[in-house]
Amino acid sequence: MAAACIFCKIIKGEIPSMKLFESEKVFAFLDINPLSYGHALVIPKYHGAKLHDIPDDQLTEILPVAKKIAQAIGAGDYNILQNNGRIAHQVVDHVHFHMIPKPNEQEGLGIKWPQQ
Ligand code: C5P
Repeated sequence: MAAACIFCKIIKGEIPSMKLFESEKVFAFLDINPLSYGHALVIPKYHGAKLHDIPDDQLTEILPVAKKIAQAIGAGDYNILQNNGRIAHQVVDHVHFHMIPKPNEQEGLGIKWPQQ
């Protein structure tokens, strides 16, 4: 944990978030400035700025959790995105994976509501 890190503060509950999932190694929450409905961030609890700063064993749950969130919200099409460094558009220096649903015009997120 890094005292000044905004995502470490979210993990500790010092800053509120819309939490989606938490385990020993992983925390997931809705992005505060979503690019689409359901835009989520999946982060290792281990603090590191870039992907190569995180030990392999702290990364194993990330994609399974991102996949489950995408399925749970009914995202048919989506991007998994992870930025490293300013030139690569990283703003928050705590590794995070974006799960960005891509709704289509006909079906929205692809959520199938029960028939009336
Ligand atoms: O990959 P990058 O560093 O550019 O993305 C950071 C993301 O963290 C942004 O999408 C931003 O909206 C999100 N964020 C957040 N809650 C905060 C600060 C940033 O969800 N308190």
